[in-house]
Amino acid sequence: MKSGLIYLEKKLCSFAAISPDNGGMGEYKKAEWLKKYIREKNLGKITEFNAKDLRVEEKIRPNFNIFCKGQTNQNLWFICHLDVVPQNDLSKWRSNPFELKIKKNRLYARGVVDNNAGICACVIALENILKKQSKPYFNVNLLFVSDEETGNKYGIKYILDNFDLFSKNDLIVVPDAGDENGLSIFIAEKNPLRIKFKILGKEAHSSQPDKAINAFRAESYFIVELDKLNKIFGQKNDLFTLGSTFEPTKKIANIENINLIPAEGIFFMDCRLLPSLKSELVLKEIDKIQQSIEIKFKVKIKRQIIMNEMPAPTTKKQAKIIELLKKQIKKIKKKELILKGLGGMTFASILRKKGLDVAVYCTTNNSCHCANEYCQIDKLIEDAKVFENLMSNK
Ligand SMILES: [Zn+2]
Repeated sequence: MKSGLIYLEKKLCSFAAISPDNGGMGEYKKAEWLKKYIREKNLGKITEFNAKDLRVEEKIRPNFNIFCKGQTNQNLWFICHLDVVPQNDLSKWRSNPFELKIKKNRLYARGVVDNNAGICACVIALENILKKQSKPYFNVNLLFVSDEETGNKYGIKYILDNFDLFSKNDLIVVPDAGDENGLSIFIAEKNPLRIKFKILGKEAHSSQPDKAINAFRAESYFIVELDKLNKIFGQKNDLFTLGSTFEPTKKIANIENINLIPAEGIFFMDCRLLPSLKSELVLKEIDKIQQSIEIKFKVKIKRQIIMNEMPAPTTKKQAKIIELLKKQIKKIKKKELILKGLGGMTFASILRKKGLDVAVYCTTNNSCHCANEYCQIDKLIEDAKVFENLMSNK
């Protein structure tokens, strides 16, 4: 199992499958290689659901499913993404991000955990079952899609809008988030609310502040005032470590020279709301704060909502996929696990909104999207074993 996983990781990590939204060439070559591998190993029937995207050379963003008939008619899905985020600052990497580096128990490369570990674990799990010349218990579907890191338009959303793949009693696993020990199953996700703010003042030479309305000063006070949101919406939820969060994130540079009072300031906020918190309530509070700053500093503040979606329902603790997965994890890890909520967002939110039960599970760490992203080999093997047992319902 170990050598198979490392071989697959090595190959998958060699493709810079970066979305054109992030300046990359897309997932096509990686998908072609993986389909070839699947055919050679005879893992199942491949069906393609490719989305058209004229920005990439092949004009295609690949999505495909591998179907392996089981002993029963119950469908079990594993959904993983083919795309990876860019390497970002190359000087922070200790090795080539697109060449797998093995060091003791660790594998290093961009995408080695997010989400190649998920792909490798479920492919090798299925391969192992077929090697033993047995059939999986469930109908196994490995669905590999594009565009997860940049909005899902050409990936899972495209599939849900154009094909009817899932039914209500399907069992669905998304191996795209987890904890370091693989002892958490995520059954809920926070709802992102993203806002762009533009503060408009009046420009003047910095020696004449009486003639100016300093947008930067107003912006700074505004950001501090927005911290009140943490207190106002400070309620907790048992599933989540943190309550709703409200973070100023991106800041656009204003002016070149030091001796000018800026007339404009732009910044963004990324709020992560607990499923029970309605975004309208948050926006109402932001309105109040915004108005007080406008009055106090005589600025105008324009607000643009970048992202504000309906919250996704929580998958019930008693859902069949949660029960089955719990049983298998306990067998492999021999430890108690917990059901949790995730601060980030995976495919699960999109699927849960369609009324489907989804378990988000794998073993991962904080290196996703960072330089020197790594995956622990022993944990990867354990994930593959959990998935193998789940597929064969041992
Ligand atoms: Zn991911």
